[in-house]
Amino acid sequence: MTASCIFCRIVTRESAAEIEYEDEEVLAFKDIYPKAPVHLLIIPKRHIESLAVLEADDAALLGKCLFVARKLGEAHGVAQRGYRVNCHSGPEGGQVVYHLHFHFLAGRRGS
Ligand code: 5GP
Ligand code: ZN
Repeated sequence: MTASCIFCRIVTRESAAEIEYEDEEVLAFKDIYPKAPVHLLIIPKRHIESLAVLEADDAALLGKCLFVARKLGEAHGVAQRGYRVNCHSGPEGGQVVYHLHFHFLAGRRGS
């Protein structure tokens, strides 16, 4: 938990978010500025800044995040039509929030 991190604050409910999925290790909630009809963020609850500082032991946790993407695709009825999962890393990767997250985008072609 990093007090200044907006996504850590969502995990602890100090900041509000529309949460769609939660388990012990992973949280998924709506992006506040959606860029597609369905735009969710999937995060590990544990604060990891970005892919650039990922440790080997973190790999399974990111696999769980991707498995949550599968569940969200099914829950939103887009498993067959498809969806996009993005992860931005670092300034030139377009990362703005430095708590690792996957964007889940669906609902239009090329989401
Ligand atoms: P990235 O760091 O991958 O560029 O994107 C960060 C994403 O987090 C953006 O799509 C932005 O709209 C979203 N975001 C930033 N602050 C908040 C917030 O306080 N709540 C929610 N739900 N989303 C946020
Ligand atoms: Zn954080």
